[in-house]
Amino acid sequence: MLVVMKANASEEQVRAVCQKIESFGLRAHSMPGAQRTAIGITGNRGELETGTFEALEGVQEVIKVSKPYKLVSRDVKAEDTIVRFPDSDATIGGNEVAVIAGPCGIESHDQAFAAAERVAKAGARFFRGGAYKPRTSPYAFQGLGELGLQILAEVRERFGLLIVTEAVDHESLALVDDYADVIQIGARNMQNFSLLKAAGRARKPVLLKRGMSATLEEFLMAAEYIMSEGNYNVILCERGVRTFADHTRNTLDLSVVPAVQRLSHLPIIVDPSHGTGKRNKVTPLSRAAVAVGADGLIIEVHHDPDHALSDGSQSLYPDQFDNLMVEVRQIAQVLGRTIADPVAAPAARRHAGAAAD
Ligand code: PEP
Ligand code: MN
Repeated sequence: MLVVMKANASEEQVRAVCQKIESFGLRAHSMPGAQRTAIGITGNRGELETGTFEALEGVQEVIKVSKPYKLVSRDVKAEDTIVRFPDSDATIGGNEVAVIAGPCGIESHDQAFAAAERVAKAGARFFRGGAYKPRTSPYAFQGLGELGLQILAEVRERFGLLIVTEAVDHESLALVDDYADVIQIGARNMQNFSLLKAAGRARKPVLLKRGMSATLEEFLMAAEYIMSEGNYNVILCERGVRTFADHTRNTLDLSVVPAVQRLSHLPIIVDPSHGTGKRNKVTPLSRAAVAVGADGLIIEVHHDPDHALSDGSQSLYPDQFDNLMVEVRQIAQVLGRTIADPVAAPAARRHAGAAAD
């Protein structure tokens, strides 16, 4: 159920409605919008009586939400969610198309810094790189763990890039929440409900990747798990799904971008690296992703992909990433959006929430 407040409702009236909801042992999710505040109610097992809330001061109407997902829905919040970061003007979901780039995994200090310098210069605002790698084989490189997170924190200090990195379980989630700016939940964990709930209690925004066989509804319900715990900064990511096609690693489902945007206020970005698994297809599908209206791109870049410890064959050389940025910047412009300009000398920047704080 959704309680829609009047446009001129006071903060006190909103608070009183939340208290009333909580007095029934339910959870109130206040979602301020440009026009009015809506308060989502979760935790009810059966039907709630709309009249209980309709009578409260400042309430415009009470709507029964028939969709299985509530907080992710545009019914609760009509305006697009813009994810913001302390001490940075970078956003995800705003007019600027966010670019997240870096290696698949953090392999060493030098490897991370080599990629970070180049992607920062090309205009990326976010750096990716796994410290915990969910690998198909237990014998494959599993990531450097906390050492990898420390290297990522150094990348942030040196290049001013915001850090996006994956948490694979509860233990790594707590550490990633301390070190990173965005917690990535990978495709393999999209329906790890206990991990999703823990991410919902974390402080940092969550980048949720679509499971490799997830329907749109399953994808949105996974985001609902995170939001239902009180973390409303969720970024969705299309990274390809399994199909019969074998010319690519996965089939990148770009149609899910407008489909999500119709139903949800959450930003949706695209990962053409895992979406194709082939270096030569990453730039064409990045162009297409921006053209289809994605709010961002997440791209694997490695200074020496032939020797990468994971996903080398889909990692771009830095020069290819430079070229990609030039192209997608022009496409974004056609749509009235922007992509950050290249920077000659990336400046060090400190961000609140860094582990070193
Ligand atoms: C990754 O981003 O390196 C990754 C493992 O992605 P996914 O979860 O989409 O496979
Ligand atoms: Mn990868």
